Amino acid sequence: FGAIKIERIQGYEQDISLYKGVWVFAEQRGGETAGVAFELLGAARRLADRLGESVAAVLIGDGVSERARELIAYGADFVYVVEGKEYENFSDELYANACVKLAEEHRPSIFLLGATAYGRSLAPRISSSLETGLTADCTVLDIDEESGMFVQTRPAFGGNIMASIVCPARRPQMATVRPRVMKKPEPDFGRSGSTVMFLPVMAGTPKARLLERIQEEGFGTSLSDAEVIVAAGRGICDSKNLELVEELARLLNGAVGASRPIVDAGWIDHSHQVGQTGRTVAPKLYIAAGISGAVQHVAGMSSSDFIVAINKDKDAPIFKIANIGIVGDSAEIIKELIAQLKSK
Ligand code: FAD
Repeated sequence: FGAIKIERIQGYEQDISLYKGVWVFAEQRGGETAGVAFELLGAARRLADRLGESVAAVLIGDGVSERARELIAYGADFVYVVEGKEYENFSDELYANACVKLAEEHRPSIFLLGATAYGRSLAPRISSSLETGLTADCTVLDIDEESGMFVQTRPAFGGNIMASIVCPARRPQMATVRPRVMKKPEPDFGRSGSTVMFLPVMAGTPKARLLERIQEEGFGTSLSDAEVIVAAGRGICDSKNLELVEELARLLNGAVGASRPIVDAGWIDHSHQVGQTGRTVAPKLYIAAGISGAVQHVAGMSSSDFIVAINKDKDAPIFKIANIGIVGDSAEIIKELIAQLKSK
C-alpha cells in the first residue's frame, strides 16, 4: 500500500479554482441543532483558516432561521437557510435537492456532514448528483502542508490501517464525520456573520413521505449526549446483570453502552453498541465492565476523558487504555459501586 496512483477520468475534469469555502450541513432534530453540527463547524473553521476561505452552514427546516445565530457563534461566516413547511420533517430527497442546488450556485470546495442517520442518507445523494467523491466516517480532516490538498483520514481494513483519502479532480470534496469525533468549539456570540435565505426549486414531488415518527425506546439518556457511560461486555456474563449496569448508569446520570457480542446476543438494542460498527462516544467518564478491549470496541470510546475498566483478567487489553483498572467480577464490583453511591 505504499504509493498511490491518482488517475484523472477524462470528461470529469473541473476548474476547481472556482470552488471556495468550507460548508457544514447543520442537522436539526425537533427544532434542536445536533451537536455534530457544532463539532463540524469547529473542524470547518480550522480548515477554512488554513485555506484562507470562509465557513458556511446549510440550515434546512421549518421555522429554523432563528438557529442561524448559534451557527455563526460556533464558527459560520454565512448561514444558507432553506425554510418551508415542506422541510418540516427530514426528507433525504428534498434536503439533498436543496443542498445540490445550493452547491451548484455557490460552489463550495469542501462539504462536511455528520455521519448520523440523516447525514449518511444525504451525503451519498448529494455527492452522486454533483458527481464528486465522498469519504464516510472520517476521524481526521486536515490540509496537507505541501500540496494544500484536503486530506480525509478514516480507518480501513477493519480498523487495522488508517487510509488518507484525497479527491483531486472534483468539487466539493465531501466527508462525513461521526458525532463526538471532533471537539465542539466554545461558542462566541459576539462573532458576526450573515444569513442568506434560499428557495430551491424541486422538480416533481418527492417519492417518499413521512407517515409516522416512532420514538426509539431504550435505557435512559442517549449515548451520544451522555457525559457518563457505563458499558457492558460479554464479561457481565448474564443478561440479568444488565439491570445492575442500568442502575449504576442511572445513579451516575449516564447512559448504557454495550460491546457487540451482547448486542448480537439480543441482550440490548444495537443503538447502545459502541465501536467501529456502533457509536463513537467521548464522555467524561466511561466505565467498561467485562469488556476485553478489542480494537473495534476501543475505536469507538478511546477519546473518553477518563476510563475505568472492570475485568477479571488482569492482562485484558482494556487495562492498557484505562485510567483506573479494577480486577474482579464485574457484577460484584458494580453492586459495590451502587452500594457506595447509594450510601452517599
Ligand atoms: P470478549 O472479547 O469476549 O471479552 C469479554 C471480557 O470479559 C474478557 O476480557 C474477560 O476477561 C472478561 N470477563 C469474563 N468474565 C468476567 C467477569 N465475571 N467479570 C469481569 N470480567 C469478565 N465490537 C464492539 O464492541 N463494537 C463494535 O462496533 C465492533 N465492530 C466490529 C466490526 C468488525 C468488522 C469486527 C470483525 C468486529 C467488531 N467487533 C465490535 C467485535 C470485536 O472484535 C470484539 O469481538 C468485541 O468487542 C468483544 O466484546 P467483549 O469485550 O464484550 O467480549
